[in-house]
Amino acid sequence: MMKQFFRFLVYLKPLLLPFILALLSGVVASAASGFGIPMMIDKVFPVVFDNSKLPPFIQDILVEMVAPDRLHMVVLITACLILPLVMTIRGVATFINGYLTAFVGMRVLEEIRMKAFSHLQMLPLSFHESQKKGDLISRLLTDTQNVQAGITQVSNDLIKQPMTLVSALCFLGYQAAKTSQTSVLLSNLFFVSLSIWPIYFFGKRMVEKARRAQKELGDIMAVAQENLCSQREVRSYGMQGQQVAIFRQLTERFIRIQMKAVKYKQFLVPVLEGVCALGLGYLLVRCNSVGMKESDFMSFATALFMCYDPIKRLGMTYNRLKQAQASLERLNFILDQPDNMPDPENPVPLGKVKGNVSFRDVSFSYDGKHKVLEHINVDVPAGQVVALVGPSGAGKTTFASLIPRFYEVSSGSVHMDGVDLRDATKADVRSNISLVSQSPFIFRNSIIENIRLGKPGASDEEVIESAKKASVHDFAQQKEQGYYTMLADYGDGLSGGQKQRVAIARAFLKDAPILILDEATASLDSESENKIQEELDKLVVGRTTFIVAHRFSSIRIAQRILVFESGRIIADGTHDDLYVSCPLYKELYDKQSI
Ligand code: ADP
Repeated sequence: MMKQFFRFLVYLKPLLLPFILALLSGVVASAASGFGIPMMIDKVFPVVFDNSKLPPFIQDILVEMVAPDRLHMVVLITACLILPLVMTIRGVATFINGYLTAFVGMRVLEEIRMKAFSHLQMLPLSFHESQKKGDLISRLLTDTQNVQAGITQVSNDLIKQPMTLVSALCFLGYQAAKTSQTSVLLSNLFFVSLSIWPIYFFGKRMVEKARRAQKELGDIMAVAQENLCSQREVRSYGMQGQQVAIFRQLTERFIRIQMKAVKYKQFLVPVLEGVCALGLGYLLVRCNSVGMKESDFMSFATALFMCYDPIKRLGMTYNRLKQAQASLERLNFILDQPDNMPDPENPVPLGKVKGNVSFRDVSFSYDGKHKVLEHINVDVPAGQVVALVGPSGAGKTTFASLIPRFYEVSSGSVHMDGVDLRDATKADVRSNISLVSQSPFIFRNSIIENIRLGKPGASDEEVIESAKKASVHDFAQQKEQGYYTMLADYGDGLSGGQKQRVAIARAFLKDAPILILDEATASLDSESENKIQEELDKLVVGRTTFIVAHRFSSIRIAQRILVFESGRIIADGTHDDLYVSCPLYKELYDKQSI
């Protein structure tokens, strides 16, 4: 387990100074409580009642400085000031320790969260498609939080508490040596060591419960996320009751598993206190049988009590650590996912390509078993507009997804201007492609910024020019704040056609030589479709275009048609040729269902 934690210690490197200060203040605070307080009881308080108990060297100094009749007063005031002094030192050190530990913990948390988030950006699409979004969010937010709490508490207590324990043990040893009570000391150490067992026992159970609790929380988040993103469906299918029932079932399960963790957590302290009470009881008997003085017993008992307190806290830390371990495993799951589509070490610079695209004997499978594309060979010269048609599930979208290298081909190769996509960087490849999909994603930002995504850094004039070409200008002008109108999540507040136009404006602005229109107009009514079609007609000019077509009207502008069936291209030609030579195409065309 510690190995897993060490992996995160690199994040402490830039925070070394506050971290060391935090540890040092922890040491001071623990020495003040572990040694300072029993020492007060043993050395300082008795002096107040009997001045002769003053250590001789202090007595010598005082006698020289103070008149004999005022000696008692001075000793009393000094003794009374020592306690607040010890407490102040302890208080200040505890504050610095707590503040800096929280600071270091939060910084570490930020780094871990950033690392996990950045890693998610790099991971292939196939990873994201296989994961529940809500669960990933839970890993990013609550699991990092747990790890942070673990790291903070560990760095806080792992020095402070053992130091307190060692100080208290030292005092116990000192007391035993002073009163020659080694056997009393040994029997007490036996009781102290007994307390390790419940810590270990509860810790082991904690990790299992924490692991399950975090998984449950991930499931809850996944259901909540899915629900919040599908409010239309929930209403139209009257799913509210069913959704609430699912949510309740999950939260019930979460509570049950959490309560088990709470049980172990709450059990630990009373069990430890029980062991402590046994120890004290035994001490009382032993002290009595060896005829120990009351004052010696009191400082023995204080030191013993001081031993149990850090053990109790260490036990709680151990539990926290076990909880963090479960979260760490869930975070490592993200961090350990390999980027199975890395960029080459010496990539071929693509620059702005002309737009020739070729597939050479490409086969592809999502799951490594079932082939979705088989032996695809096709050359598309720059500027050609190609429609991909075929029955649903034939592989058209998959074919289009291989051009921006969203997935890696299983065999064969895809080329852009003759360069194998795997020899260039993904960023270079994708900078040459504009994608307009069926339901374009609108980010939580203004209209102008949503368009500017096409070319980050473009001037407002450039953005507005593209917006005009895509007919965004008219509806943007009608909004109260024009182009600066904020769009809500997923572009709510824009019609389907308007979202499409924003996406088309992005593509105009990006001005990439290759264009993929993925069922771009399939979700629109025919009036909006006709209007969008006009903008698309302008957009395709001079660009190699792939249209994943579901409707006949959208392939009107295609110069060439590829007919897909069960992962193969079974025909390739113009509409007139194919209508005569390809029965599948004729059938689809006649049914108007392509
Ligand atoms: P089309 O666009 O022609 O309707 P697709 O390329 O979307 O077809 O799908 C081809 C096949 O691949 C289908 O059997 C589909 O179920 C499967 N498929 C599509 N996307 C994925 C995915 N992300 N993961 C696994 N299988 C997929």
